Order: sequence, then structure tokens, then C-alpha cells
Amino acid sequence: MSNNERTLSIIKPDAIERNLSEQIKLIFTKNNLTIIDSKKLHISKDEAAEFYKVHQSKPFYDQLCNYLSSGPIEVIILEGENAILKNRELMGATDPKNAKEGTIRKLYGISIDKNSVHGSDSAGNAKTEINFFFKK
Ligand code: ADP
Ligand code: MG
Repeated sequence: MSNNERTLSIIKPDAIERNLSEQIKLIFTKNNLTIIDSKKLHISKDEAAEFYKVHQSKPFYDQLCNYLSSGPIEVIILEGENAILKNRELMGATDPKNAKEGTIRKLYGISIDKNSVHGSDSAGNAKTEINFFFKK
């Protein structure tokens, strides 16, 4: 009856800039998500474009890639029971204005683009996204 999963979280530039990384990671660990691995890095626009290629037809794609490559980020592998959905719940809605009380985006998000965190949205994407940053 268990569904142990791994998912990728990214702490985005707006949150790293405000030194929110430790507080955000505490939210994960307090909610039974284990940090398997993490690292800080600063990706190029080309890498951001590759990471976000599922969004390449969206009007905000170029802005999104510029943003994710605008400063340091922290990429984190989370593991736990239903980790993919649990992380999405802890993050809250994409637009912080619509995020529920207590969620990361409600607490720390600034705007729909500077919304502090990324989280994989499916098992397939979780695998692809973890491999993208943590190649063996
Ligand atoms: P989520 O991050 O909640 O999974 P999406 O996958 O739909 O959201 O979008 C990826 C990222 O693109 C969002 O986190 C947000 O930073 C940005 N984004 C989404 N919609 C918009 C928009 N309408 N305008 C600007 N940026 C957006
Ligand atoms: Mg998404």
C-alpha cells in the first residue's frame, strides 16, 4: 500500500536571492519528504530552454527561460510517499495570488513568474527532470 516516489524541486532565483532555501527545505522535510540530493547551480539560457521545452509553444516561454537562468537556483531530489503530488500541494498554485494559505508560493511567491519553486507534475516528468540535473 505504499507509493514511494522521487520528484524534482527547484528553488528559483527569486527565493535563492532572498535566502529562503533553508526555510523551503524545512517545509519539505517537516512534511515527510526526504532530501536525497541537492546542489546549487546557475544554468545557461540554453539549458533553461531545454529543461522547459514542454512549454516551448507558450507565450511566456522566452521570459521563463530568461528567468530560470537569471541567477543561482537549487535543484533538489525529494523522496517519499506520493512525493510528486505532495510536493505540488506544498508548493501551491502557479500564481501566488491563487495559492492556499501555508503553501510555499503563498508564503514566498512574488508573482506568477517569480513564484519561488518548481515541482515535477507527473511520474514521467519527474524521471526526466531528475536525470536532467543528476546524470549518473
Ligand atoms: P507550475 O510551475 O505550477 O507547474 P506551469 O508548468 O504551468 O506551472 O508553468 C511553468 C512556469 O512558467 C510557472 O511556474 C511560472 O513561473 C511560469 N508561468 C506560467 N504561466 C505563466 C504566465 N501566464 N505568465 C508568466 N509566467 C508563467
Ligand atoms: Mg509545471
